[in-house]
Amino acid sequence: MATINKNYGLLEGGYLFPEVTRRTNMFIAENPGVKVMRLGIGDTTEPLTPTVIEGLKTGVDNLAHKKTYTGYGNEQGNTELIEAIVNDYRKRGISIDPSEIFVSDGAKPDSSNIQSIFGPGTVAVQDPAYPVYVDSNVIAGRTGPFNEDTGQYEGIVYMPCTKENDFFPKLPDGKVDIIYLCSPNNPTGAVATKEQLKTFVDYAIANKAGIIFDAAYEVFISDPKLPKSIYEIPGAEKCAIEIKSFSKSEGFTGVRLGYTVLPKTFVVENTKKGEMNAAWNRRQTTFFNGASCLAQPGGIVALTEDALRESQKTIDHYMGNAKIIKEGIEYLGLTAYGGVNAPYVWMETPDNMDSWDFFEKLLNEAHVVGTPGSGFGPSGKGYFRLSAFGDREDIIEAVDSIVNNLKL
Ligand SMILES: *Cc1c(COP(=O)(O)O)cnc(C)c1O
Repeated sequence: MATINKNYGLLEGGYLFPEVTRRTNMFIAENPGVKVMRLGIGDTTEPLTPTVIEGLKTGVDNLAHKKTYTGYGNEQGNTELIEAIVNDYRKRGISIDPSEIFVSDGAKPDSSNIQSIFGPGTVAVQDPAYPVYVDSNVIAGRTGPFNEDTGQYEGIVYMPCTKENDFFPKLPDGKVDIIYLCSPNNPTGAVATKEQLKTFVDYAIANKAGIIFDAAYEVFISDPKLPKSIYEIPGAEKCAIEIKSFSKSEGFTGVRLGYTVLPKTFVVENTKKGEMNAAWNRRQTTFFNGASCLAQPGGIVALTEDALRESQKTIDHYMGNAKIIKEGIEYLGLTAYGGVNAPYVWMETPDNMDSWDFFEKLLNEAHVVGTPGSGFGPSGKGYFRLSAFGDREDIIEAVDSIVNNLKL
């Protein structure tokens, strides 16, 4: 007799974005002819750069000829791409061995799959957080049920990130085992400093905890003092796994390409050096057959100087949008965070209004869709996320509508 994995039954409600879509579609059905503007989902909108397009075309052309045709590749990734990634770290003074890099079909799958190499243990997440970290651990059975009163799963340690602590958590009070950190942060747009990251690296080493560091938005950091990799912090190679993505940097949200760095020096309780690296290698070679041979040549060229120069223009475009959004919110006398080294503006709702109430208000009065902060965790209550991904005219139109139509 087969049964369902009961942990799926523990998952609370729907995923945040389907609920946003449901409410938006309801508004559109009830208000035909009204133009709805979207500052909601974090998806890229700019076309790929010419150099990367050429790289992707090589991937296709290779398949057209017997001599260059390839089928399955290495599960760990194309050797040339791994070398390019190693070199990308080397340029920043970080030494990573090719065997410590695992190319994948994206950071979301990696950040949900990586928990499978850990045993049972207590998970700590930033609150608010990207929903995948919590949900993957609920499904894996590391939590109790969802508590409607607290808005939290039992057994997970939520580390509040609010304006009171500059959106970076203080260390957990007790001992936790698996810690998720995301910087630049989705949804708050905050970027951790080296000093802040060091507190967690020191904690993890002292407590034999593992840090899973999601650096999907690293390229949006323009302040040279801010760390772009957790491996800029001494000791991080012993306690941190870094997850990266070509999605937001290169517009590969549909192409699908990312990677995980798992150093051989990464150890947890009762493991030897290399054991966790070998476990992830086993996981990937067993469950995954390698990233697409169409996507990987795009990744190789994406890391060349020419392509990086081109993609910087795209990043500047998104960050220009972020500036316009932030200035619009501030013009209204409201408070906004983020949007400087990350493509998200994290605003306080007026008069501490409930996030979903503000969602309805913004939609009804300004016809703009955003993302309720409470959807990312209980500490997101009273906050609201606006995304800087979009066409410039659309962003200006949406911000104008907010400035002119929102009743405060
Ligand atoms: C968009 C995003 C990713 C990227 O996921 P992909 O699977 O590589 O597209 C990862 N982490 C966070 C926090 C994100 O917002």
